[in-house]
Amino acid sequence: MAIVELKNVHKKYPLGKTEVHAVQGISFDINRGDFVSIAGPSGSGKSTTLNMIGCIDTATEGDVLINGINTRGLKDRVITNLRHDTLGFIFQSFNLIPVLNVYENIEFPLLLGGGKRRNRGEEREWIDHLIEEVGLADRIKNRANELSGGQRQRVAIARALVTKPEIVLADEPTANLDSKTGEDILNLMKRINREQNTTFIFSTHDATIVDMADHIIRLKDGQVIKNERISR
Ligand code: ADP
Ligand code: ADP
Repeated sequence: MAIVELKNVHKKYPLGKTEVHAVQGISFDINRGDFVSIAGPSGSGKSTTLNMIGCIDTATEGDVLINGINTRGLKDRVITNLRHDTLGFIFQSFNLIPVLNVYENIEFPLLLGGGKRRNRGEEREWIDHLIEEVGLADRIKNRANELSGGQRQRVAIARALVTKPEIVLADEPTANLDSKTGEDILNLMKRINREQNTTFIFSTHDATIVDMADHIIRLKDGQVIKNERISR
């Protein structure tokens, strides 16, 4: 069974007296454990698509299924739990809390409601492991506003993973990084994808980054113009 399924999904945003048809009937399946890119130029509907998969936004028409469950019409509480337990988010602007240190930023999602908190000792071990994994062991006490762009995105990756999500959604995760740092970040995401079998879905307009995916879904003007699985 596909971990994510979109069936004839549309999204229209009201705009004054008219509307923008941002996503125009897209359908695709994503398999568990895949490293997927949603590619396309600016304005093609990438963010809108990720937001609908992440239950941040709802489709105007069509169905979005996560683990076979249609997200349409789920109660707010169920959506909150789904977002907390099943999904992790990485943003292009990192969205860290500047005055919290590396450890505290990664811990943050565990302080929010949703799932039960694990044993505190285990929790600390898990966060330390993630910090090690993303290569920031020597920065653990640094505040987010003392880090470089690449380091901030590493913190954001660890934060997205702290709740052990099945799916990580990353909206243009390399947009604010130079190309070398961006490639390092993608390689880090890919390593975690391989090690943990976590499904990663990232959007990008950068061709070199697109090519690192093993499933490429290309959008143009709100439509899927290519849907290709690459066997390696
Ligand atoms: P991408 O991520 O590929 O740049 P988006 O999904 O952000 O594309 O946007 C797709 C289209 O929808 C664009 O024309 C954009 O201007 C429009 N759009 C996105 N969000 C909104 C919104 N909240 N209100 C109105 N129009 C929007
Ligand atoms: P990266 O390749 O990871 O993006 P940079 O070359 O940008 O790293 O940064 C080099 C070093 O400078 C890093 O160790 C980082 O911690 C430090 N640094 C970068 N930006 C800042 C900042 N705004 N405040 C404090 N230290 C910074």
